[in-house]
Amino acid sequence: MTVPGTPAGQQTVRRHNLSLITTALAGAPASRAELAHRTGLTKATVSSLVDVLISQTILVEGVPDAPRVGRPARPVRLNPDGPVAVGLEINVDYLAACALDLTGQVRGYRHAPVDNRGRTADQVVAHAVRLSDEVRAGLDQPLLGVALALPGVVGVDGELLRAPNLPLLAGARLGQALAGELNVRELQVDNEANLGALARLWSAPDGGRDFVYVSGEIGVGAGLVVNGELFRGVNGFAGELGHVVVERDGPLCGCGGRGCVEQYAGQEVLLRNAEQPDVEALEAAVTRSDPRALAAVELAGSALGVGLSSLLNVVDLPAIVLGGVYARLYRVIEPALTAELASRVLSSRSSAGRLCCSSLGVDAAVRGAAGAVVDRALKDPGRFTEWDASSDSSSPSRARRTG
Ligand SMILES: [Zn+2]
Repeated sequence: MTVPGTPAGQQTVRRHNLSLITTALAGAPASRAELAHRTGLTKATVSSLVDVLISQTILVEGVPDAPRVGRPARPVRLNPDGPVAVGLEINVDYLAACALDLTGQVRGYRHAPVDNRGRTADQVVAHAVRLSDEVRAGLDQPLLGVALALPGVVGVDGELLRAPNLPLLAGARLGQALAGELNVRELQVDNEANLGALARLWSAPDGGRDFVYVSGEIGVGAGLVVNGELFRGVNGFAGELGHVVVERDGPLCGCGGRGCVEQYAGQEVLLRNAEQPDVEALEAAVTRSDPRALAAVELAGSALGVGLSSLLNVVDLPAIVLGGVYARLYRVIEPALTAELASRVLSSRSSAGRLCCSSLGVDAAVRGAAGAVVDRALKDPGRFTEWDASSDSSSPSRARRTG
């Protein structure tokens, strides 16, 4: 959107410069002079842009660090009490919501175990809206935006194109429905493994910029991160690790194929093989060395190892991060998985250092969803500062507007 009377070129430059300010502050607070140094902008331009971002509550001014000769510099930083991002996740056996502030701190979180396989899109959307309200309850902060994590193949327009474990929701435009209910202008939708991978990238900056993130839920997916960017494939369908075949004539899978990774390593199959009702019971059974539980986890680790070996032989990524149920079972699943990787991945001279587990566990995708909203806002804060406050309740500038 262009402000009337302002040349488009100036608007583009202004938006770019605003993004220089917010991304420069993502790591640490800085004075206006330091920001000018970090960004290469003039001090006058920095001051003008910082004032705009402060008026939008995206930045906040701190107290001067210490008394000094001359006028003390007041540092500015991202505002923890500014707009909040909401991440939502609709998965096969739970819903989750998370509110994240601009500094990346979690301000609200809900995890609701519920079987969504028999629920309609309307029922799931209504429940997700309630969770979104709950994570923002008590926060007197405007809504920055919302993103949604889904367990399946997500089309470019946010449609859930294929969801073998949620057949009633396949074809549903859940993001569009949620955007309407939550009154947000747009709502990002992505696959849960992709968002889990991004959460890992943002939460563990020392964890490398090239890896495969494996989300282990009832479905099994992978997010491929190459040089700090998600690799989505041409149509956004990359990473369907759960449907890589490990046994050509194996059990029939929900995708229509046979012998997929998910039929050995998916959470539901794992629990059935272990004869345990839920993951907590499985963890307890493993701890007391129940032979069926140990055998089920070993089978899952082997199948996952075979599938991941095929993936790594194709894409040549140096590290694997296990999320979801695999992170919880890491200690017992690691030996079988590592053994398959060591014998099958052609590039592996040693399996040491290749495998680790995500510290975010089952929260990774919903954290990644909220993080994606914050990331987009910091990379292009001009999207928000140019919104017409009077017509959009999701705008951070709902209560005030600057020119
Ligand atoms: Zn399959």
